[in-house]
Amino acid sequence: MIARKWQVCLAGLLLLTPLLQAQTQSTKPKPRVVVIGVNGMELDVIRPLILKGQMPNLARVIKNGAYGKFRTVPAPNCPKAYTAMFTSTKPEENGVTGFVIGGITANTNMLKKEPIWSMLSKNGVTVGMANVPATFPVMPVNGYMISGMLTRGKNCEDGVLCAPKLSEVEGGDAVYPAAMRAELMKNVGDFYIDCERMPSAEQLRGHESEVIDSWLKRVDVIREQQNKLFDYLLTNHPTDFTWMVQSCEDRTGHWLYPIAPYNVGYNPKINGVRPDAFPSQYIAFDQVLGTILKHVDESTYVLIVSDHGIKPLREFEDTDPHAHMDHEKTTPVIAKHDFADGDDVPGSFFAMGPGIKRDLRLMGFQVSVFDIAPTILHIYGIEPPAQMEGHVLTEIFENSENKVAQK
Ligand SMILES: [Zn+2]
Repeated sequence: MIARKWQVCLAGLLLLTPLLQAQTQSTKPKPRVVVIGVNGMELDVIRPLILKGQMPNLARVIKNGAYGKFRTVPAPNCPKAYTAMFTSTKPEENGVTGFVIGGITANTNMLKKEPIWSMLSKNGVTVGMANVPATFPVMPVNGYMISGMLTRGKNCEDGVLCAPKLSEVEGGDAVYPAAMRAELMKNVGDFYIDCERMPSAEQLRGHESEVIDSWLKRVDVIREQQNKLFDYLLTNHPTDFTWMVQSCEDRTGHWLYPIAPYNVGYNPKINGVRPDAFPSQYIAFDQVLGTILKHVDESTYVLIVSDHGIKPLREFEDTDPHAHMDHEKTTPVIAKHDFADGDDVPGSFFAMGPGIKRDLRLMGFQVSVFDIAPTILHIYGIEPPAQMEGHVLTEIFENSENKVAQK
């Protein structure tokens, strides 16, 4: 009921959007904020890559901004962590408590709390979202929305950890406004909405190297398509607020994390084949980040967030109540993130932009998934509503006395 109330409200307001735009045209341009999500970015793995100079774009963001660990939710996974970011409320309050809730794959109709894209749209901020997890079916915004992880379609009927192409989507819309779908098909192509499903134990048996190589090739294709999509959207549909997400890193980490032979789950036939596979995902991500940063100038706020980290399985795996809950197919996973204590697998947070401190290392858990929405609203001069659990990250701004960073 609550969900329906804010949805109807937003749909009505969007009819007035041209009027709102006309009214705001005479005022100062709105701040520009780009949020880039990387699923399961693990600081333990990226630190050596940064040292070796293999992630120059992320290194630039770190040097010019603030960064640190990012507190996630308990037993974290994408739908829980992303909806916590969208609404700044706990999963049990916002309704999205996992991949599947009451036998139904998590979807936007389940959201009981108003998400950030709706609040921004109502305030006349233009919004662009691409491949953000848990945004299927897409909802009306003052701009565009292309869904991401949990999109349902052919060969991906449950929508969990698989990838329909745009033409194969079923059970809801993956693109808002609907007319944009044909434009994307024409100019970007029939792209995969999410990352590839991980292979099963059966598929791997006896063909390990072959299956690993062909799976990684598919991942490369998906990333290439996402890079093209993001570049196209930022060039042809610039918005005040933009949120774009990549998800192949997490999936690669689950079964190809480079662990030592004595770790729980180690299988030399699989884990001895491509120890470079997981670190290489971040090197490839850095190139996508480079594409996005080409569209960013000094007056743009850039936030890079990872919803959680990912760590090798542990000795207590057999008794952990959350063991393999979210990747329960038959893939022989060796790393995961849904540990009962979310602080065991912190995500990561990076921010740069006007008024944000440079070269600031955030110690401990100063930043959490709940702080993203209030901080974005703050940048736009919008008062965070009472539902919000998190705080405005005034500590990252030069002048933390300022109630509003920039109007
Ligand atoms: Zn995962």
